[in-house]
Amino acid sequence: MMGEGDPAETDAERKMRFLYALRSRGVTDTRVLTAMEKVDRGLFVRGHFAGRAYDDMPLPIAAGQTISQPSVVGLMTQALNVQPRDTVLEVGTGSGYQAAILSQLARRVYTVDRHKRLVRDAQDVFRELGLVNITAFTADGSHGLPDQAPFDRIIVTAAAEDPPGPLLAQLKIGGIMVLPVGQSDTVQSLIKVTRGERGYDYEELRPVRFVPLVEGLGTE
Ligand code: SAH
Repeated sequence: MMGEGDPAETDAERKMRFLYALRSRGVTDTRVLTAMEKVDRGLFVRGHFAGRAYDDMPLPIAAGQTISQPSVVGLMTQALNVQPRDTVLEVGTGSGYQAAILSQLARRVYTVDRHKRLVRDAQDVFRELGLVNITAFTADGSHGLPDQAPFDRIIVTAAAEDPPGPLLAQLKIGGIMVLPVGQSDTVQSLIKVTRGERGYDYEELRPVRFVPLVEGLGTE
């Protein structure tokens, strides 16, 4: 069997292995798989770990943060059930990979990160790939984006103890939010929140582990 990060592996073999890992971990939505086949994760992982970009594992990026595990990106995107006319907010741009996947499925994607450097690097990749429907800001995403709200879909890729109130408020009726909740450094739960006419419905999806949602802007 091909070893992970094997230099003798061809691009096609690497892509097959990447997609196979996604499917075997429950990513079955064709639109999500197509988006993940199209957007090269290798462009979002720099330096030392670049050779591991097609392995199903989280990897370190700048500012002490991580690019999420591809199967987790796939499962969260699938749970979000994005529609072609949707406006999506992502909190936690990180490498920009999740936003790039969303950009294939939605009309417009807003993504925010508290680290200016990560936003700048991600914007460079979006430009390189011609992903013109993504707007990235440096901001504390726990307040959402009041000027662009409300959103059809919200995805949070850092863990809060509870769903932040402003994000719940900025979700449209009929909208869906997917986010990890729980204390950092323990196992968190990925939850799906659906906003109905009369309130919010919560569904627990699976255990996950994300970096914490931190208030205020970062120093990098
Ligand atoms: N979605 C990313 C991975 C995100 S890692 C990807 O596809 O690569 C989580 C990110 O959340 C980190 O970059 C961190 O800086 C950011 N973050 C943490 N707290 C935040 C906050 N309050 N507002 C915005 N971003 C935040």
